[in-house]
Amino acid sequence: MIYGIVSDLHSNFEASKTVFDELERRGVEKIICLGDIVGYAASPNECCDLVRKSASYVVLGNHDAGSVGRTSLKSFGKAAIGICQWTGKILTEENRTWLENLPLIREVNGKLMVHASPGDPSHWEYVLSLKDAITKFKIFSNRICFVGHSHVPCSFVEQDNRYNVIENKKFVLKHEARYIINPGSVGQPRDGDSRASFAIYDSKNKKVEIVRIKYDIKGAQQKIIDAELPDFSASRLELGK
Ligand code: ZN
Repeated sequence: MIYGIVSDLHSNFEASKTVFDELERRGVEKIICLGDIVGYAASPNECCDLVRKSASYVVLGNHDAGSVGRTSLKSFGKAAIGICQWTGKILTEENRTWLENLPLIREVNGKLMVHASPGDPSHWEYVLSLKDAITKFKIFSNRICFVGHSHVPCSFVEQDNRYNVIENKKFVLKHEARYIINPGSVGQPRDGDSRASFAIYDSKNKKVEIVRIKYDIKGAQQKIIDAELPDFSASRLELGK
């Protein structure tokens, strides 16, 4: 099975459509979406519609939860709170109900899928460093755990109680090892590369590839400006941060 793994679309329809078209072009059979479909940019309904239509497995992100009142906004910045409130107002009834019912975590064919981190997914903890990953490896037993949330594509491996960061964009999964895999962010990358980020997982050949693709950043920025959302939501897209 060829899986497309996407996360953190953040209402950026220009990036999301480009990525989903590329997944189709690459013959992806199933799409896993790790949440934060909405928040930050100006097309929450278009992004929800796209994910609902195309993704096989979807989990809830903190901005999805914040936009429909499923999590406290205490840990959100002031601008992010405003955007969650704006998003909550313009969501269609259908999309709101869908977000209200998304699971925090899913396990499919032995693979774990969660927006932030396994253990207590509603605490929205980041897996940013090897130290974070080591802690998390101890609280799940699956071979693969897909996570998003950090907006930085990064993977970690555990084998025989030894832990490493995987720097390569393409790697082959070893049978005796376990992995935490973050595909990066479709709609708001924060690793200094403005291109949309996603992953392809070929479960038959055990191959993972992190892919970057250019999209219409100017188009996404214009919609954010037209919607009178905070400027930084637009300016950060071209900086990739
Ligand atoms: Zn996010």
